[in-house]
Amino acid sequence: MKVASVIVDVPSRQTDRPFDYWIPERWRGVIQPGMRVTVPFGARRLQGFVVDVKDHSDIKQLKPIEHVLDVVPVLNEELLDLGRHLMETTLCFAISAYQAMLPAAMRAKYEKTLRLTDEEKREMLPDEVKPLFAGRTEAAWKEVEAAGLWRAAQKAVQQGVLEAVYKVKEKAGKKTVKHAAIAIPSEQAKQELGSLPTRQKEVLSFLLEKGQAASVAELQAVLGVSSAPLKALVDKGFVVLNDVEVYRDPYEHRTFQPSEPPVLTRAQEAALAKIAASVRAGEHRTFLLYGVTGSGKTEVYMQAIDEALRQGKEAIVLVPEISLTPQMVERFKSRFGSKVAVLHSGLSVGEKYDEWRKIHRKEVQLVVGARSAVFAPFENLGMIIIDEEHETSYKQEEMPRYHARDVAIYRARRHSCPVVLGSATPSLETFARAAKGVYELLELPERISDRGLPDVHVVDMREELRSGNRSMFSRRLLDELRRRLERGEQAVLLLNRRGYSTFVMCRSCGYVIRCPHCDISLTYHRAGERMKCHYCGHEEPLVPRCPSCGSEHIRFFGTGTQKVEEELTRLLPKARVIRMDVDTTGRKGAHEELLSRFAAKEADILLGTQMIAKGLDFPNVTLVGVLAADTMLHLPDFRAAEKTFQLLTQVSGRAGRHELPGEVIIQTYTPDHYSIELAARHDYRAFYQREMMLRKAHGYPPYYYLTLITAAHEEAPAAAKAAEKIAAYLRKHLSHEAAVLGPVASPIARLHDRYRYQCMIKYKREPNLTAVLKAVIDRYQADAAHGGVMVTIDTNPYMMM
Ligand code: ADP
Ligand code: ZN
Ligand code: ZN
Repeated sequence: MKVASVIVDVPSRQTDRPFDYWIPERWRGVIQPGMRVTVPFGARRLQGFVVDVKDHSDIKQLKPIEHVLDVVPVLNEELLDLGRHLMETTLCFAISAYQAMLPAAMRAKYEKTLRLTDEEKREMLPDEVKPLFAGRTEAAWKEVEAAGLWRAAQKAVQQGVLEAVYKVKEKAGKKTVKHAAIAIPSEQAKQELGSLPTRQKEVLSFLLEKGQAASVAELQAVLGVSSAPLKALVDKGFVVLNDVEVYRDPYEHRTFQPSEPPVLTRAQEAALAKIAASVRAGEHRTFLLYGVTGSGKTEVYMQAIDEALRQGKEAIVLVPEISLTPQMVERFKSRFGSKVAVLHSGLSVGEKYDEWRKIHRKEVQLVVGARSAVFAPFENLGMIIIDEEHETSYKQEEMPRYHARDVAIYRARRHSCPVVLGSATPSLETFARAAKGVYELLELPERISDRGLPDVHVVDMREELRSGNRSMFSRRLLDELRRRLERGEQAVLLLNRRGYSTFVMCRSCGYVIRCPHCDISLTYHRAGERMKCHYCGHEEPLVPRCPSCGSEHIRFFGTGTQKVEEELTRLLPKARVIRMDVDTTGRKGAHEELLSRFAAKEADILLGTQMIAKGLDFPNVTLVGVLAADTMLHLPDFRAAEKTFQLLTQVSGRAGRHELPGEVIIQTYTPDHYSIELAARHDYRAFYQREMMLRKAHGYPPYYYLTLITAAHEEAPAAAKAAEKIAAYLRKHLSHEAAVLGPVASPIARLHDRYRYQCMIKYKREPNLTAVLKAVIDRYQADAAHGGVMVTIDTNPYMMM
């Protein structure tokens, strides 16, 4: 095999195909599909994935592979195939698919610099760029970007004055620790003991007794020796020092109480029996485990996993990032101990890499993780579980735009194993499939504790205003909070911030401060009196006067958690409040710390955003308050009602999970909306039926499929024109059964300095779709090169904005 086909790390249409390279003699038989290599590509040196090795190539003059980056393939045959499947279904580039499967630490990273091609050309540098190259010939891209000189630099590159240089580097290396081991036969070592000074003798006999290498740190800790005796032993040739690879264990300082499985309830037993039978039979099926909050779904997952592990197989558990709480991790660690790897965004790049390698080396049999853990490189999967399957965070919003549920089912089919989708509020898509018998429905209709679900009261905030209460707390909620304080019980308050902005508005002229790059209002942050854009990260100080009319009456509107906290401490001065939001949980470990303080009853009220809605389980919480239930209802998104229903149901599930009965108060300005009414009655099925009728009437999923196409450009007319052309092309080439809507300006009309127009395809069956969409990409890629129109296609959109 002399030729390798390589997917290079340039995410673009032109490079989205394998390129052939010559395999030099020394790597013949070494290089396999799924390994990473570096190759020359034009003037650059790039990383890439080998996807095939073969004997011949149609290309005459092949360039050689430069380096091999892996000793064994990092992507196995199954994952390489899965990549092709993602390309086909999500229209992503091959390189994006493969990179999504690996931890960030392994992703290709370059040090990118711009270099002066020739000292003589220095004079030809544009004036504004000259200072960057003063006294040197090379500058990092980052500096050029930071200085806002990108365009000027680009021109200089086009004129041949500067050239782009890429240097491959790997982000996080393996972590190693120095270990000492005996270098001579142990018989000889024993004889030498007598002639050694005391300290050296201690070290050598410790190593003899241990029978294996000991870390230098261990020697120093146990024996209290300095490095001198060790060095003496090394110099004599009795001991060698090696770098031994170790894992960074994020849970290093934690101990987990081993847990024994409880006796299952009848409903749990029945559900488990079906899943376990499917595991034992090695057959692919998809189950929907529909169980109210606190009905013991997690316990069913764990015993089903047990079955898979007993069969010598592996399992993946996906949990939404937001509910991958310390409590959740602890439950799995307690039950499965060192068999578990955990993958979530709270880990450092290096820690994630370590967890991934434990999986890759088959040192663990179970992974609990967020969305991307669905790509865990197990080779003998016995089951995949997706908890809270309705969560939209399972959909990735950048290339590859995959949904973890689809990937899980695709992999499970290949491994011939079951998938379990669990939820108290299944997505409409999933419940509809279960209703049709495509998925098998398993139900846990009751809570484990015989308390039942909490009482829910809906408070009409318009009434409050009419009767003169201008506060953000209704009288009822305040009364109940006071009662909890008196009884020493705890409360959780949710401020639904999604779609809710603490924007800054001028009361005199109505001017709202917006991001200069994105068409959305900036959010006010108390810390440092700053305003931030939650899309692009743009940040600026709060202005004292209205930029439009000069009035001083400019201030923030809407309600942030900080403002609620202030009001809360004003109304209930004795209450101890813990606030959880992006500001207080930014630091690593902060999330965990705040929760354990609340668990230890160091506070009476836990106030937070969506991040507190799920998975938390505190015995002493008897009241849950939702401050503004309807903020999400008005988003331009056909799933707005579904999301509202899900959130209210989930957060209600936090109350009264144990001995003490729970109560929920939902404050809203639209108390008669069906999503709020039905959430208050815990009536999922009624909500399902009502919402399905609406979806059918308006032609939305699950009755129809959608594809969203967005064209973006710095000039609004250019974006609009491109979107028009695309819509016309689609109308011409798709069948009459597909409806093409638009183009219209996107709800977020401008993002990252680009204006956005979108069109939507609605269809039930459209065999031509993939081919037509690929043609759209091909046609507009040329445009992108010239005019800079950016076209994105989402074949299963969850973000409608
Ligand atoms: P869900 O995942 O459906 O919200 P959990 O699995 O978290 O529910 O269960 C709720 C509580 O009931 C947990 O504290 C759990 O330990 C407990 N539990 C679950 N199953 C049983 C059982 N069969 N017997 C006793 N307690 C159980
Ligand atoms: Zn003004
Ligand atoms: Zn912005």
